[in-house]
Amino acid sequence: MSYARFAGARIFGVSVLDGGKNVEIQWNNGTHSRYHSMWLRQSCHCPSCRQSSNLPSVNFHDVDVEAVIVHAGTEGDKVLTVTWSDDPNHTGVFPPPFLKRYSYSDRDREERKEEMNMVFNTSAKTFDVRDTPNPVNVAYSEQRLQLHMDQTPYESPPGIQFLHCLRFDKEVQGGDSFFVDVFHVAETLRTTHPEEFHSLVRIPATFDNTFYTRDAQFHMVYQRPHIALNHDGKIVGVTWHPGMIGPLMTKEEDVEDYYRAYKCMATMVNTFPYQYNCRLEEGDLITFNNRRILHGRHHYDAKSGHRHLQGCYVKIDEFKSQVQVYTNTVGDGKLATRVGNLDWQ
Ligand SMILES: [Zn+2]
Repeated sequence: MSYARFAGARIFGVSVLDGGKNVEIQWNNGTHSRYHSMWLRQSCHCPSCRQSSNLPSVNFHDVDVEAVIVHAGTEGDKVLTVTWSDDPNHTGVFPPPFLKRYSYSDRDREERKEEMNMVFNTSAKTFDVRDTPNPVNVAYSEQRLQLHMDQTPYESPPGIQFLHCLRFDKEVQGGDSFFVDVFHVAETLRTTHPEEFHSLVRIPATFDNTFYTRDAQFHMVYQRPHIALNHDGKIVGVTWHPGMIGPLMTKEEDVEDYYRAYKCMATMVNTFPYQYNCRLEEGDLITFNNRRILHGRHHYDAKSGHRHLQGCYVKIDEFKSQVQVYTNTVGDGKLATRVGNLDWQ
């Protein structure tokens, strides 16, 4: 079930390559995948290598990492079987949908990444497209609006955020909410300002939330670059909160590059043409991915009436897990879209 998307994978041919270092599978769709001897060892699905929970119980302390594959075959087209040079009494078994799901051939990796790609919404139906004739000025005037994600000084900032509008008097001037997809901003920055983009990937910013003047004292300082890329150069994380930025602590020669890049990103965040604006009404609940969508609020006059919102969070990993379960069990088995939680997939 967990490999629902790949249920149709069938093995057409198997060959042992590179003196037993690799097994190559020819699939029913004509493509090929190679699996390293140790990759297979760690992934073995035989009862002694898998606990009842279906998690691997292989202990690499007992494995010869140089061991080669002495035989590979199939049971029908259903299962790949493998034996290794250091463990002749052990027959490894592998379901084809599993092998296809985790195939690391260039082609399959590309296909999966395509499937998990974030889609950026540029439709004016759902998004208010703002005209920005003079972006730099708008950036300055909007500094106080502080588009941000919550809790950036955490190693793992909250994922799904809920904001519930309990009260918002009609008389209140301003106070509208607005949102920007910061992954879309970062991807645009990569295209328009590649040098600044790479400074934000390379130089660690400081995120700081330190209070000693409240009843609950806390001291949270965390360093990481604003943008994180995976091994393929895909953006897998963006951290942005101008109000929780701490003093930069980096090599002297990086300081200027950082501020130049930070200014560039801040300007883009504040002038990004795809922004969702809304004025919440009493009873409204708005939910969004805090790891991806920046939220802000226009200034309002607190003396003109009451505005009361209540928020809470749900962990993004648990949310993503549930999405994938539903997709696999009642949907089309498509891989869940990247959610920006620093997952290297
Ligand atoms: Zn096994």
